[in-house]
Amino acid sequence: MARSVPSGWIIFTHSRPLVTGHFKLDEGETSGAEGPAFVLRHRNLNSHTTDPMSPRETPNTGPSTSPLSTSECSSHNANVPEDRRENKDDDGEEDKEEEDDSCRDEGFMGMTPLLQAHHAMEKVEEFVHKVWEGRWRVIPHDVLPDWLKDNDFLLHGHRPPMPSFRACFRSIFRIHTETGNIWTHLLGCLFFLCLGLMYMFRPNISFVAPVQEKVVIGVFFLGAILCLSFSWLFHTVYCHSEGVSKVFSKLDYSGIAFLIMGSFVPWLYYSFYCSPQPCFIYLIVVCILGLAAITVSQCDFFATPQYRGVRAGVFVGLGLSGVVPTLHFVISEGLIRATTMGQMGWLLLMATLYITGACLYAARIPERFFPGKCDIWFHSHQLFHILVVAGAFVHFHGVSNLQEFRYTAGGGCTEDGAL
Ligand SMILES: [Zn+2]
Repeated sequence: MARSVPSGWIIFTHSRPLVTGHFKLDEGETSGAEGPAFVLRHRNLNSHTTDPMSPRETPNTGPSTSPLSTSECSSHNANVPEDRRENKDDDGEEDKEEEDDSCRDEGFMGMTPLLQAHHAMEKVEEFVHKVWEGRWRVIPHDVLPDWLKDNDFLLHGHRPPMPSFRACFRSIFRIHTETGNIWTHLLGCLFFLCLGLMYMFRPNISFVAPVQEKVVIGVFFLGAILCLSFSWLFHTVYCHSEGVSKVFSKLDYSGIAFLIMGSFVPWLYYSFYCSPQPCFIYLIVVCILGLAAITVSQCDFFATPQYRGVRAGVFVGLGLSGVVPTLHFVISEGLIRATTMGQMGWLLLMATLYITGACLYAARIPERFFPGKCDIWFHSHQLFHILVVAGAFVHFHGVSNLQEFRYTAGGGCTEDGAL
């Protein structure tokens, strides 16, 4: 089902501060369950490169007719109650009703041309807002505004800019390049939330020092939940606007640092249970490094595609700072004790999962070898997300084994061991 839509350039400069830019509405095809779809093409006024209106992407729709000159019924719906105007439901019938309502505005012809233009502009703005709310369809990478261009191996399936949080959150249930990124960390976040709550409500009898141990393991859960929730939120609202994308990308990167710092806390606590001094020193060092990573991730350049490798390097480096306490632990406990009671195998598996994820992310594998084939599923960022959740779970498993060992051994310490 297609619908007649006026095409032409629309310039928004007033009313809603979010709606600023050049847009063109082209009649589109039906995009499945959402009903009629229209291509919403956005040209960022600050963009200097690709013109999204390139001939390849935009067939000529004939003489341009400004929506402002839809003479049959271009009146502003000044008499429509406020709640009606706010209702951005997908129902196509409503559009017709509103058009009818707007026709009732008898005072329109008596207005000055400037006032007519102003009212018509608001009407169009409202219509465009509805398009953002639910009737968008995915667009190719090369028509994205610069601030949405991240991975040029993902050729199609991108969300257009949608300066509406409601539209962004609705897009969680649509299929596009970010669907997998959102759901992997949304489900991971819920999983760790449930696991964390279950752990916190374990009977105190299962711990040597219940409050202390629950706080220490709680820090790990807090880091994991913050990381995963910042991540799925970032991927959800990434297409809102340049400003929102920047703020949430910084939160996303900070979340990775929180996960790494939080992972160190219970591991150092149990591994150096009998050597509190080195445990404390390592904790301070990892906190300083983590805060340094958070600080650098607040710089705008850090989120740009050119710094993808640097980003991966910063967080892998932060994780690899654990090599020093690991060597300390292995030397003081011996390899056998470190791998059996010290759960070194799980720690190595966790490191392997995180580093593999970071390498896939930095090198953009597999989409690098199959451009356009991994647009929706199995692209590097999704694999990286899955490996982060798996790595965090493996770490939790190792830490809970360490906790069980401590419970079995009791609170006492041997003369020269760290464990
Ligand atoms: Zn991500």
